[in-house]
Amino acid sequence: MTNGARSVPVLMYHHVSTSPGMITVTPPNFAAQMAYLASAGYRTLGARQLAGFLAGERVPPKSLVLTFDDGYLDNWVHAHPVLQRHGFTAICFLVSGWPGEGTPRANASDVAAGLDGATLPRLLNHREGEIAIDEGRADEAILRWSEIDAMRRAGTFEFHSHTHSHVRWDQVAGSRAEKRASLRHDLLAARVTLDERLGGASDHLCWPQGYYDDDYREIAREAGFRHFYTCHPGANVSAANVQPDAERSINRLEVRDRPASWLASRLWVHSRPALSRAYLRIKR
Ligand SMILES: [Zn+2]
Repeated sequence: MTNGARSVPVLMYHHVSTSPGMITVTPPNFAAQMAYLASAGYRTLGARQLAGFLAGERVPPKSLVLTFDDGYLDNWVHAHPVLQRHGFTAICFLVSGWPGEGTPRANASDVAAGLDGATLPRLLNHREGEIAIDEGRADEAILRWSEIDAMRRAGTFEFHSHTHSHVRWDQVAGSRAEKRASLRHDLLAARVTLDERLGGASDHLCWPQGYYDDDYREIAREAGFRHFYTCHPGANVSAANVQPDAERSINRLEVRDRPASWLASRLWVHSRPALSRAYLRIKR
């Protein structure tokens, strides 16, 4: 492990959007954050490379992982063009029951290039998006499969599972048996959908709202998942000599709508495992 990364920070985004709301970074702050990462020499890892690092493979220092939860339309409109400019790859955790059909909508690079009649789609804020999804209008808030294909072709995004429905079965099921059966069905539906649409589903899973318990972990393992993305902050260190099929919980740092200097200070802390632990202890 000489000269390799000691910790790989995993950043968590949701929206990159001009519509203000919860868990939303503005396009200028996102562009500045990505420009900082590029100028500071950071490189992005995909899910497979992160799994390799966690299992003891060497990755270069200043490696990190960008993640986006839920699969919002604004990821195509505002995040994809910026990632493309820097040659970065991000992981999108898709709720596989939400994307719709239809041709790709215009994104910020189409509009910047003056493409014929290209105007940006209206973007819903987080709350408006939740309502749209509840009312069966997910297409107004969520990526289309055609946009997902374009992002994959460009290499800006990989897509992994965030369940098929995003339902918190621990909260809505009437019994433990029902919770377990519903989650199992949800995870298998996600796997089947990603198999059909993307030609394969990985063993990486992001827990909806960061929630998991022993039942969740057991059912997810049975459904073929091994890498579990949480909302716990902290460093991610490699653990060689762990059984090859051991499960891994991955810490993530929520990125705020703040300038690049804020992100730089967070990365400085969480790239150093001992410092990261001390920082989180003090914060608690
Ligand atoms: Zn989510």
